[in-house]
Amino acid sequence: MNKPLPNVRVAALCLGSALLMSANTAPAGDDNMTEAKTAADADAGILKWKDGKQAVFMLAFDDSCVSHVDNAIPELVKRGLVGTFYINPGNGPFQNRKSAWENDIPKTGMEYGNHTFKHKGAPSVDVLDEELALCNDVINKCFPDRKQPRLVSFGQPGGVPWTITDEEKNQLLKKYNLVQRPSFFGYPFHAKTKEDVLKLVDNAIAKGEMGHHDFHGVGGDWLTTPMDIYIALLDKLSACKDVVWVTDAVSYHKYLVERTGAELKIVAKTNNAIKLQLACSTDPELYDLPLTLYVRVPAQWKAFSVTQGKDTLVAQLSDGVLRFAASPVSGEITVRRTAN
Ligand SMILES: [Zn+2]
Repeated sequence: MNKPLPNVRVAALCLGSALLMSANTAPAGDDNMTEAKTAADADAGILKWKDGKQAVFMLAFDDSCVSHVDNAIPELVKRGLVGTFYINPGNGPFQNRKSAWENDIPKTGMEYGNHTFKHKGAPSVDVLDEELALCNDVINKCFPDRKQPRLVSFGQPGGVPWTITDEEKNQLLKKYNLVQRPSFFGYPFHAKTKEDVLKLVDNAIAKGEMGHHDFHGVGGDWLTTPMDIYIALLDKLSACKDVVWVTDAVSYHKYLVERTGAELKIVAKTNNAIKLQLACSTDPELYDLPLTLYVRVPAQWKAFSVTQGKDTLVAQLSDGVLRFAASPVSGEITVRRTAN
């Protein structure tokens, strides 16, 4: 049965985060505080995270374990959460659930990452080149509707020979549009208890930054995270959805790089319109995740239209600040006051 969490429990789960946040963001001179204050005080800008969320959290799953198909994914789907699955399509576990990986899971909104075709490591440049290419081919086959080229997350396989240099690796990542993910961090290596795992979410909220937990087996297979810890983490993320952007590794990467390389300025203001100039430094073919922008509007403005080129954007007004998602493309954005 798909019973929703009782409200009281949900509130309690994220209340811990809110308390921790107010306690930990107080020190004067904290970089994040300074940045947040500047953003809130400016008349227009790019919000730090998508939809104005306070923090980011990512769930990663390595080795295309059978327990991902049987245990991890159904629990994510139940809660409307997303994970990045670093697959090895040439290995037994993937082959054991081939139809699920190739046909069913891509439709659930999960993201795939490249963990190489057979988890062989990189004894030579040629071996890694082939391993990356074959894995990318399968990922593309699983998502036939996605445009190409596109960015895919890369998780380096551990516990296998790796003798090539970082420079050689980086050249191959570039060749295949792969983006290196953050270093593996998770149970049972770095987080040893349920409390350690849950604290990762609190820490991300307190810092206003990205946190992540990486898994091998979930309730089965190897280096296994027990189900009760996994469920507790998902429940906490569900409870914190209003403040935490739970996303995949490529979306996080895109937003961060786009936002870091972009600038939004007000270039003209009239009684009925505000013209903004968005300047982006990223390649719009690969970096195509909308940025969340905001602009302060006069109190008497009650109805609006927001246009970017030929597109009309959906905007939300809250406390005199208009917020909207815009493509990360350089050009003009116009906010017009319309008849109420
Ligand atoms: Zn692995």
